[in-house]
Amino acid sequence: MTQRARIYADNAATSQMSEAAKKAMTQTMEDCFGNASSLHKEGRQAAAVLSKSRKIMAEYLNAEPREIYFTSGGSESVNQAVMTGVKFALAKNKKHIISTKIEHHAVLHTLGKLEKQGFEITLLGVGGNGIVNPAELGNAVREDTAFVTVMYANNEIGTIQPLEEIGQICKERQIMLHTDAVQAGGHINIDVLKENIDMLSLSAHKFNGPKGAGVLYCRKNITPERLIWGGAHEGGRRAGTENIPGIASMAAAFEENCLNIEKNAGYILKLRDRLISGLSKIPGAVVNGDLKNRLPGNVNMCFEGVEGEALLLMLDMRGIAASSGSACTSGSLDPSHVLLAIGRSHEVAHGSLRLSLSHYNTDEEIDYITETVPKLVETLRNMSPVWEKIQKNKK
Ligand SMILES: *Cc1c(COP(=O)(O)O)cnc(C)c1O
Repeated sequence: MTQRARIYADNAATSQMSEAAKKAMTQTMEDCFGNASSLHKEGRQAAAVLSKSRKIMAEYLNAEPREIYFTSGGSESVNQAVMTGVKFALAKNKKHIISTKIEHHAVLHTLGKLEKQGFEITLLGVGGNGIVNPAELGNAVREDTAFVTVMYANNEIGTIQPLEEIGQICKERQIMLHTDAVQAGGHINIDVLKENIDMLSLSAHKFNGPKGAGVLYCRKNITPERLIWGGAHEGGRRAGTENIPGIASMAAAFEENCLNIEKNAGYILKLRDRLISGLSKIPGAVVNGDLKNRLPGNVNMCFEGVEGEALLLMLDMRGIAASSGSACTSGSLDPSHVLLAIGRSHEVAHGSLRLSLSHYNTDEEIDYITETVPKLVETLRNMSPVWEKIQKNKK
């Protein structure tokens, strides 16, 4: 077999750093090692990088620089946002929180902890299309509802949620709204003002930035709850010497991606749709999640009678990096909570494959994936007692 270059199609798990992000990181490491809290020249240089990065992050969210808090990534931002929601609830003597069944575990596990502490949590279901119905959210609101957290775009099936409508409901009912926008940031346009978003979480490594850097946007009338106590960094809301190279690199990646959103999305969307239509020819294949309100790079399909993990490993041997769901759930044998929420059976959900594309993917790569997956699905089905049974039952 001739050696071919690897194909990376797992951008929802993490993305490769852009040249702009790498350059910003190495340059900052070389030229700007100071502590942003120091008063001398080196410190002032670091503080200037911090302030420039804050301005960039704010600009492309339609926020103000003072509303941007730097964190270590998506999970930390989400945790801080939820705990800020809790602080708001306690201040108003309320105890009801609304979220969805398709959230990332960063949200679901934090809410699980709160439930044990006496908060009441409603997790909204989604339709077969993987999208929350805003009317259902409106109906779930109670007198004692204080906080809503709904993700912007889903990490497994790529569905984009109706944040503007959700934001409107929360504004009218004076409920605090957070959105986990880790999959959306740098990939689709976000406007926190237009969408009435109070808090929003981002993670740099999901938009071609580095790992270990993230943002919590927090509307100016809200003081985020501290998770980490110590110095007066980040307006006293997040202690710890700032990760200047990571933050500068994140801002460079975000700016570049946001300036190219239309161009990249148009390009990636064509690859995605070609891949979906190619793989849909596989007998018994189903696409998971809405086809229209969907991240440009997300392909998620189920192939009945196939073990997703086995397919993933065989693809890996053929040079294709994919995922069988979210990276956090692989390693466990439970089927994806997102696929179950859109109504897939346990058996079908086990045969899921996620290919998440970026602007670094090429037409030629899509051709190769489209040729390879059907062969592997057939090989696996020929070895599968489950598939044999399904075929028998159909007769
Ligand atoms: C990746 C991801 C997170 C967690 O971000 P980290 O930077 O890995 O902590 C949270 N939410 C969603 C939707 C994600 O995709």
